[in-house]
Amino acid sequence: MNGDQRGPYKDKPQAVERLTSIIEGFMALLGRRLPDDVQTRLEQLRAREDSPLGREIYAAMFTNLDMAGALDRPCCQDTGILQFFVRAGTAFPLLDELEDCLKEALIRATLSVPLRPNVVEFFEEKNTGNNTGTRIPWVDWELLPGSEGIRLFAYMAGGGCSLPGFSRVLMPLEGYDGVYRALFDQIVAYGVNACPPLLVGLGLGNSADTAARLSKKALLRFIGTRNPHPRAAEMEERLEKALNKIGIGPGGLSGNHSVMAVHIEQAGRHTATFAMGLSTGCWAHRRGLIEIRKDLSCNILSHGNAVL
Ligand code: SF4
Repeated sequence: MNGDQRGPYKDKPQAVERLTSIIEGFMALLGRRLPDDVQTRLEQLRAREDSPLGREIYAAMFTNLDMAGALDRPCCQDTGILQFFVRAGTAFPLLDELEDCLKEALIRATLSVPLRPNVVEFFEEKNTGNNTGTRIPWVDWELLPGSEGIRLFAYMAGGGCSLPGFSRVLMPLEGYDGVYRALFDQIVAYGVNACPPLLVGLGLGNSADTAARLSKKALLRFIGTRNPHPRAAEMEERLEKALNKIGIGPGGLSGNHSVMAVHIEQAGRHTATFAMGLSTGCWAHRRGLIEIRKDLSCNILSHGNAVL
């Protein structure tokens, strides 16, 4: 192997193995431990809950999380379908190998963690058995020009928490009122399926696909942060307050809070369209962010003190 093929590594296959093993370990962490922002918000909501049933639900959640840590097992049986959102440095030396590494890491993690095999192929109607399949793991790419590292978001999209998702293109005259109506109708009808308290991602854009994609990206943002646009930030706060008045509560058994947060992401729209997308995350919102550098050292930004 000459220097060009090897890039900066003395042993490129070993570097690929190291990258795969980092991602496998990251998935194990993601399955068994909630990210710090979600854990903190659940603790805050638990402290504010005064419904006896709601308090019992929070107690069960935290016992469940403690046991997942102690037994080194996933904190929910539904370990979802893996979605990766890669912010890839264009100078990251293993860019060509990255997608294969993600797939291989997922196959390994399915056995080693273990992750429940959830992927069923359309038309064959058969479980693939290893959590991969056509276009799965789903990989969404954004480029970081000139960067030598990657920032990798991983999300375990469970079945229940994916159920309320939808996107729709509204007539412009329906405007924000149309968005609120559709959002509330959907959460009231299906929110309970998604194991509340929910993280609500609202995407606003020009078409069904852009709005849907933005709504999922909204779920990646850490709880406790706000959209930088002041009107969007105000809308997030107002929607949170209003959705909490529905009274779905933890586990859907009534209580003070139905949502952990509402996050909005927006893109410019066509003058003739007003598109919205909705994605929801459940109380066990297993989303993580890891930074991997060119020397294959890494930093987990979502889970403090975590060791892979
Ligand atoms: S909605 Fe979330 S907590 Fe409920 S079963 Fe699905 S993955 Fe688990």
